[in-house]
Amino acid sequence: MFADRDGTIIEDRHYIADPADVTLIPGSPEALTRLRALGFALVVVTNQSGIGRGLYTLADYRRVAAETDLQLERAGVTIDATYFCTDAPGGDPETTCRKPSPVLYRRAARDLGLALAGSYYVGDKLSDVLPAATLRGTGILLRTGHGTAEEERMAEDGGSGGSWLVADDLAGAAELIERLES
Ligand SMILES: [Mg+2]
Repeated sequence: MFADRDGTIIEDRHYIADPADVTLIPGSPEALTRLRALGFALVVVTNQSGIGRGLYTLADYRRVAAETDLQLERAGVTIDATYFCTDAPGGDPETTCRKPSPVLYRRAARDLGLALAGSYYVGDKLSDVLPAATLRGTGILLRTGHGTAEEERMAEDGGSGGSWLVADDLAGAAELIERLES
């Protein structure tokens, strides 16, 4: 199971650079625990363009990532691995790691021996769910973070023919996945 971080597991504080700003979204550790119980590896894939844009440093990112892991561990769940992309938008679509690029997912699958097809791609932006189409999995858009705005934008665009499921939050996604897997 591949999950976005900001707006999905922790509150989206807009280019979060200070570990003091790390706040778990209510229910997210429990949701991850339920997904773990279904046998899924828990992999976080996060765009961190704030580094590429020069808004914060790699060291800032690492402190925030460590605080996120710590808070999740205190809540009883350990993430298997986190992959992050520092690219700013506008890079070469052939080579950027920036989601919706499948680059980081493929790297994770290789590193951890995971199947990409049939997995779940969960997050609050279209860029989190679009890789599901490329990688033959299921995308679930959450209404936390930017999710509600993304949903409205898609409705205005007439849907754009995308195919993904929608859940209120990570807990809702866990419930959905439990149903789909049973
Ligand atoms: Mg997000």
